[in-house]
Amino acid sequence: MTTTKSKLYSELLDLHVTFRQKLEEMESAAVLDVSGTGYTNHQADDATMVYDQTVNASTVRSVKQRLRQIEEALARYEAGTYGICENCGREIDIARLEAIPYTSLCLRCAETRDYRAGI
Ligand SMILES: [Zn+2]
Repeated sequence: MTTTKSKLYSELLDLHVTFRQKLEEMESAAVLDVSGTGYTNHQADDATMVYDQTVNASTVRSVKQRLRQIEEALARYEAGTYGICENCGREIDIARLEAIPYTSLCLRCAETRDYRAGI
């Protein structure tokens, strides 16, 4: 079965809905956590809560980042530049798009960027 860009586009739309919901759930959960802090006399409970918030904050950040990548990919699709590497302008391999539909870089450029970032 051949994956087409329009199929990837509908996949991106699904991902967009999923990540929006995830973010909304996390944000409402985070609000509850914050209002709960300081209302307990048990130090251990406070420590656990602070730990949970730290985990939450970094998870929320990564979900937000992913959501932005998905939105940017959707915008590129509408602009007619979806599947074209932002860095070198070459077509991104369809197998790579299947694996990461929101990617904006071809494999070669992504590897170069990761290498430069020291990842
Ligand atoms: Zn490239």
